[in-house]
Amino acid sequence: MNMTINDSAFSAYLDCPYRAFLTLQRQVGTQRHFETLRSRLHKKLIPRVEAAILRAVSPQTHSRKCRTTVSDLRRGSPLILNTVLASPRYSCRVAALQRVDGPSSLGDFYYTPIVFHEDAATSSSQKLLLAFAAKVLGRVQGNEPTVGHVIVGTACTLKRVLLKPFFQQAEDIISERKRYSSEISRPRQLLNSHCRVCPYHDGCESEATSVDHLSRLESISATEIDKLNARGIFTVHQLSYTFRPRKRPKRQGEREYIPYHHSLWTTQ
Ligand code: SF4
Repeated sequence: MNMTINDSAFSAYLDCPYRAFLTLQRQVGTQRHFETLRSRLHKKLIPRVEAAILRAVSPQTHSRKCRTTVSDLRRGSPLILNTVLASPRYSCRVAALQRVDGPSSLGDFYYTPIVFHEDAATSSSQKLLLAFAAKVLGRVQGNEPTVGHVIVGTACTLKRVLLKPFFQQAEDIISERKRYSSEISRPRQLLNSHCRVCPYHDGCESEATSVDHLSRLESISATEIDKLNARGIFTVHQLSYTFRPRKRPKRQGEREYIPYHHSLWTTQ
């Protein structure tokens, strides 16, 4: 399958690798209310984000393009606002591309990315997404920027991010994402904290329920599931038989106390 890796696909992987796989297989989900509200907020904040960028960068001129290719970058605009950076295999939406001095295939300048996220604090996911934008820029302009900016929250605060520590992980995600283009390599379906807002929630939930999958237990990790699978335990029902109550410590007296154990979880 010939595919373009874009920022939505990259973010989907950060939320849940199985979601990235379903998106790539063009499976249709149901947009959750939370996602609708988030995307509305994102659109509403764009004018404020642009004003914050113009204040911070104060360029002599700036341009706006729906889609920016290498030939647009060669023109050397000091700032390109709210655009999709496009190359043959990759594309990435950015809040802006800022021109800085330095050698590249474009000439004696290159661009650094600025991305926007409506969350109030900078998270590692946003930094990874910024690193992805830098990787796409690197492929387009022949120079990978090592510094980028994230604008966060409704206050539109601009934060500088050093990107080198995130490059390897971003590259690993890109390679992993490419492997999903074949049905041969598919990630495991593990319910997780993102499921509540995921468009594939209903399908995944009913599949997990039908096989009584261990990931239905809210606080269980993938590592714990692997350990249980290695012991031949694959369902919540099987796990429930492993509970052995500990002897009550003498100091505890008559007080009722049962420490939490995954095997105590009930599906009723
Ligand atoms: S519902 Fe959960 S497991 Fe399924 S794709 Fe979405 S996040 Fe992943």
